[in-house]
Amino acid sequence: MSEFLLALDQGTTSSRAILFDRAGRELAKRYVGVKQVYRRPGWVEQDANEIFESQMKAARDVLFSMSVSAQDVEAIGIANQRETTIVWDTRTGEPIHPAIVWQSRQTERICQTLRERGLEDFFRDRTGLLLDAYFSGTKIRFILDEVPNGQERASRGEIAFGTVDSWLIFKMTEGRIHATDPTNASRTLLFDIRRGTWDKELLEALDISEKILPEVRNSNGNFGETKIFGGSIPITAVLGDQQAALFGQGCFSPGSAKNTYGTGCFFLLNVGGKVGSSDRKLLETIAWCLDGKSDYAIEGSVFTAGSAIQWLRDGLGLIESAEESARAALSVEDTGDVYFVPAFVGLGAPHWDANARGMIIGLTHGTTREHVVRATLESLAYQTYEVLECALRGSGLTLSKLRVDGGASHNDFLLQFQADLLGIPVERPKSLEVTASGVAALAGSKRGFWESKKGLATLVGESSRVFEPKISEDRRQAQLEGWKRAVVRAKEWDQG
Ligand code: ADP
Repeated sequence: MSEFLLALDQGTTSSRAILFDRAGRELAKRYVGVKQVYRRPGWVEQDANEIFESQMKAARDVLFSMSVSAQDVEAIGIANQRETTIVWDTRTGEPIHPAIVWQSRQTERICQTLRERGLEDFFRDRTGLLLDAYFSGTKIRFILDEVPNGQERASRGEIAFGTVDSWLIFKMTEGRIHATDPTNASRTLLFDIRRGTWDKELLEALDISEKILPEVRNSNGNFGETKIFGGSIPITAVLGDQQAALFGQGCFSPGSAKNTYGTGCFFLLNVGGKVGSSDRKLLETIAWCLDGKSDYAIEGSVFTAGSAIQWLRDGLGLIESAEESARAALSVEDTGDVYFVPAFVGLGAPHWDANARGMIIGLTHGTTREHVVRATLESLAYQTYEVLECALRGSGLTLSKLRVDGGASHNDFLLQFQADLLGIPVERPKSLEVTASGVAALAGSKRGFWESKKGLATLVGESSRVFEPKISEDRRQAQLEGWKRAVVRAKEWDQG
């Protein structure tokens, strides 16, 4: 058996490659940046070839750095930015349009048309998603309308669609395999999440030919072999990045959850083998499909989280670095009743208020820089609390702890405050590379790669620090009450 496992983590801003050994240790990693292109306001695109090349460079660099050849690599797992849409010519393997990135708003008009046709509930029931420009379906529609003879070429099967996983697999197998996994398929608006198949009626609603779709295989399926690194290496796992993080956090059973504190927050709650219980304010999605059996997750996102800390640094100049925010927050007892609702781009789940705007309220002569910094960090925790509460409400589940990751989860003050607000422990894993370790764990598990259960445990679930809730129930309630009142004001702003 070969000694190494290679995880590829193709994210929005960078392509990462991480090499693991059989004990589950992270041996080396490499990053290569990926550019975003803003052709028009609200549009976010990438060069699909750059996505592929950057990912291959990161992989080659990490193998080279450890003098590892393809023969030494047992398998590859791929985790990827979700929803980003690529359409290419099946003969030449060349993209026919820039990749449309998940954040891009260029298909809002198409979503609006679908809403006007009264299709919102239909899409929601079948796909677990909202009719929003985020998801791939309307992005495909956009590309087919945009390129010459797009619709005809699609119906003749001359072009192919894929999310980033499919695209990487297609290129890595030199055009032999056109496949995806259910976690990625479940973000397209074209996939019935209960039956686990592409859906004719959804395809009809968007007028998209089935011929362009990848074959859907298990998340721990066989995605072919790549010879691109010299020898032949099988690709044995594919997961969307948030689902990979859920797996990498060891959230395998219903009622376990993780929250990623990055630019925004991504909360995922494992709800087990069934869907349909979610409050309609959140998404339902496939957590993974292993050997033909799907588990599901409820997902909620907060639009503005770490980016509010960036704004303190770059917009206001209140702090010099994101790290400094913890020190500033801890230098005061509390916020002095200041609340900051960072609704810079409206509010996401559970409010879904696009018109709300950011607000700092409760200022007095006594308010200092430290109070404002503290209120900003606290806002990440309040917003997470609201999403989590909404997710649990409909599901009948309770949460015994929250696993966390992402850039802002380095912040001890934030995690302590989060534990206080939730009244449950918050656990930070040893390595914050949970996306890569999640897909690596899956890629190696079927092949018996991990030296022992311990190898797997090293990859998933080992905590470095647990934050236990400390404050009294009265104080907790009073703080939540203050936050709720502040949010009402932020939502009222638009009506003024
Ligand atoms: P993404 O993957 O969304 O780009 P990351 O997970 O890399 O984001 O996290 C970056 C975000 O985390 C930035 O918005 C930054 O402001 C925030 N951040 C990083 N370190 C800290 C810290 N110590 N305290 C608070 N926020 C932080």
